[in-house]
Amino acid sequence: MANDASTVFDVVILGGGSGGYAAALRAAQLGLQVALIEKNKLGGTCLHQGCIPTKALLHAGEVADQTREAAGFGVKATFEGIDINAVHAYKDGVISGLYKGLQGLVASRKITYVEGEGRLSSPTSVDVNGQRYTGRHVVLATGSVPKSLPGLTIDGDRVISSDHALKLDRVPKSAIVLGGGVIGVEFASVWRSFGAEVTIIEALPHLAPLEDENSSKLLERAFRKRGIKFELGARFAGVEYTETGVRASLENGKQVEAEIMLVAVGRGPVSQGLGYEEAGVAMDRGYVLVDEYLQTNVPTISAVGDLIPTLQLAHVGFAEGILVAERLAGQKVVPIDYDGVPRVTYCNPEVASVGITEAKAKEIYGDDKVVTAKFNLAGNGKSKILKTAGEIKLVQVKDGAVVGVHMVGERMGEQVGEAQLIYNWEALPSEVAQLIHAHPTQNEALGEAHLALAGKPLHNHD
Ligand SMILES: Cc1cc2nc3c(=O)[nH]c(=O)nc-3n(C[C@H](O)[C@H](O)[C@H](O)COP(=O)(O)OP(=O)(O)OC[C@H]3O[C@@H](n4cnc5c(N)ncnc54)[C@H](O)[C@@H]3O)c2cc1C
Repeated sequence: MANDASTVFDVVILGGGSGGYAAALRAAQLGLQVALIEKNKLGGTCLHQGCIPTKALLHAGEVADQTREAAGFGVKATFEGIDINAVHAYKDGVISGLYKGLQGLVASRKITYVEGEGRLSSPTSVDVNGQRYTGRHVVLATGSVPKSLPGLTIDGDRVISSDHALKLDRVPKSAIVLGGGVIGVEFASVWRSFGAEVTIIEALPHLAPLEDENSSKLLERAFRKRGIKFELGARFAGVEYTETGVRASLENGKQVEAEIMLVAVGRGPVSQGLGYEEAGVAMDRGYVLVDEYLQTNVPTISAVGDLIPTLQLAHVGFAEGILVAERLAGQKVVPIDYDGVPRVTYCNPEVASVGITEAKAKEIYGDDKVVTAKFNLAGNGKSKILKTAGEIKLVQVKDGAVVGVHMVGERMGEQVGEAQLIYNWEALPSEVAQLIHAHPTQNEALGEAHLALAGKPLHNHD
């Protein structure tokens, strides 16, 4: 039995990742007394094993590619190879700077930060290090970890997860990436830029299968050009060790050999053995279930982030944490429109989107009520300067608002900010067409796509 700490907090938060720390920072800002419990490192997956380290690796990959291609821009440079230790030092330097900043921020907001593994001990308390932390409310934010497939063991050596891949002490000569979703295609992109032979195995018919089919096809074309191989609609049957690496077998009889295999088949919630079920919290396949205000069926318990079955993205965790904090502080809050969340896959080329796909729009509104327009980056000056190919596709409800923006091309992730305003403010194509976009920018391509959709294309060849 844990000792009772004397303070009763307004809110006790279990897990200090994107969801948990955002809830803590906002709650403290609103004058609530907050305890934040974290067993590992403040910042969680995003800062230490996710968004930040992968994007640093991708940037190093971009520098490698640009060095190889320097002559095409008239610059003399020779690509000599990757110094993986220096890449890790660069990546870790980025992480440690942000980590220090975050620690300072939490301390400055007078949040009680508790290091240790916590367990929900009642609807209003969490036990950690033999101490009980009681709150009027508890927020569960224990996040997620890499998943595997039944019977597939991740040994951390030849069969690895993204956690291992981020610490790999070498560039593999060849790699199999099991799973063509966000995490899979990002690592495939990095390793290819670093010089590896890469094969992606994806059970669904396309890479980045949650994106509009047009974006997936453009990504596949670009990856093919980069020499990244993939097996689509290919179900994984098993893996065996060879003398030098691994051999993966597919149900269609094909086999792929490589030095290592990355298992990137998704992430599962961290909820087992943490007292959630005992406290009466409703769950489904390990995910904690919540209503649109992120409250569980137990009124004193809320949950946010990868632990609940919403989009597994850091900025979704931030938004959910903020929403819960504001609700607990008595503010009026608005449920999150998850279709309105910007999504970026940061491989080369980038895939960015907001809103719904053409297929989903047709399902909702009917085939004859959906209009689309495309703008090819070949007609965009800045993209030409960067030598990137790609496209922006818009999905509109006939005579109505833009309900989907889908972009592929180098740096297109940076354009998703305007795209999300267009979707979330339910803009009409004619309204966006009225706005002037700076020339020459890649952002201009978004303006041009809306000019096309408004019936007055400028640089479109179609
Ligand atoms: C390789 C990779 C790349 C990614 N790239 C992006 C990206 O580019 N953009 C993006 O938006 N998202 C990205 N994500 C997803 C993003 O990292 C997650 O959506 C986000 O971290 C979820 O935040 P969270 O707070 O729910 O969970 P987490 O960040 O997982 O945090 C949960 C925290 O709870 C702690 N915890 C768990 N159990 C306990 C316990 N019993 N006691 C105390 N503490 C506990 C954990 O130690 C952890 O720190 C990526 C993920 C991965 C793996």
